[in-house]
Amino acid sequence: MSQERNNREISSALRAHFGRAPRVFIRTFGCQQNVSDSERMLGLLEGLDCEACCEAEGADIIIFNTCAVREHAEDRVFGNIGRLKALKSERPELLLCVGGCMVQQEHIAKKLLESYPYVDIVFNTNELGRLPSLLAERLEKNTPLDAHGCCDWSMREGLKPRREGGFRAFVPIMYGCDNFCSYCVVPLVRGRERSRNSEHIIAEFKAALGEGYRDIMLLGQNVNSYGKGLDEDINFAGLLRKLASLEGDFTLRFMTSHPKDATRELFEVMGAFPKIAPHIHLPVQSGSDRILRLMNRRYSSEGYLRLTEEARALVPGITFSSDIIVGFPGETREDFDATLRLIREVRFASLFTFIYSKREGTPAAKMPDDTAHKTKARRLAEILDIQEEIAAERENALVGSVQRALVVERLGEVLYEGRLWDNNSIALEGSGAVGEFAQAEILSRTKKRLFGRIV
Ligand code: SF4
Repeated sequence: MSQERNNREISSALRAHFGRAPRVFIRTFGCQQNVSDSERMLGLLEGLDCEACCEAEGADIIIFNTCAVREHAEDRVFGNIGRLKALKSERPELLLCVGGCMVQQEHIAKKLLESYPYVDIVFNTNELGRLPSLLAERLEKNTPLDAHGCCDWSMREGLKPRREGGFRAFVPIMYGCDNFCSYCVVPLVRGRERSRNSEHIIAEFKAALGEGYRDIMLLGQNVNSYGKGLDEDINFAGLLRKLASLEGDFTLRFMTSHPKDATRELFEVMGAFPKIAPHIHLPVQSGSDRILRLMNRRYSSEGYLRLTEEARALVPGITFSSDIIVGFPGETREDFDATLRLIREVRFASLFTFIYSKREGTPAAKMPDDTAHKTKARRLAEILDIQEEIAAERENALVGSVQRALVVERLGEVLYEGRLWDNNSIALEGSGAVGEFAQAEILSRTKKRLFGRIV
């Protein structure tokens, strides 16, 4: 049966069940890759004549696209599902679906199916193309569906994203991760690394330009290993060359880069193509070599510093952002001080800092961890203070300079929000056009943002 006919049948079954074109509400938790998956889900469901809805209460189909990176993210999801119990008993025809990384974990899928019997479908986002047929199956079978186990990790192309506006478009280039950092569940829930063929990426990139996007971010858990396993002989630097050579005025960004796979060739390409933002998100996690070994990160703090120096030599004006985990099991004051030294040395444009979160099934979960939470929270606060100092010095040094900015939103008569190369946001006075680039003179800064004018 053709996909089209199949979709028509599923669409009429849904319409018969709800008595109208179904309204869909998708709540996305976690990272940009989840946002991109949700855009694909919405594209799929619009193919079934469903309509996007901006709140759960008004929806017929509610989808939670979940995250498993930290315990807090999971608690939030269970809280949200708990709050829908009353709505589901008022409107039993409503379909509640839970997918994403969280449900890939056996113990979580079991808890969902046993403790939340009003959840209709537990599904696997690595196979989100199955969502239409799962909805049809749920209507036929009239019992909750457990489809969390993934059996087909192959790359599914042809899922057109339905982007919900905003200034940035996400284009995934690969899925999964082979790095197995000792604290991380991603390899357990997103599977092994698999790259998309470059022709599909280029087509989606051009389509995003066609939709008017001027800031496009390539996504992957580790974009630096793009191309592995493809018949095509291409690596990440090669893909960047192809995309940055395309017609049009746009900013090309990417995340996330694993330092152990960042190459001289990557920085040479970043330095050679002006459309590539001179900014890289390079998670270091810790400045202590002992902790980096326990994390199975496979680089040293010295190696990381050398990498940033090489990047600075090859990419004029490059800026860095990073992730730091505080309170990894066994982290001593000495380890932590090594992290502070590295932060002061690199002077990041921005830092994403988290207190270590134990993830079931990861090697780190078995490591003894006797550092009190209070101590970890104090260390986190110390990093935030140092980073605020560095950010203030960096941004004050920008005052008086003129930078390229993408005008992303109108805030008032002559006031706009802009985004700079390093992803920093800036309030801009003057006459601008949303979605277009402008030259911005930096006038001042506060803790929250920069202020400038369009020149
Ligand atoms: S590189 Fe490490 S931290 Fe990043 S997704 Fe892979 S396993 Fe997780």
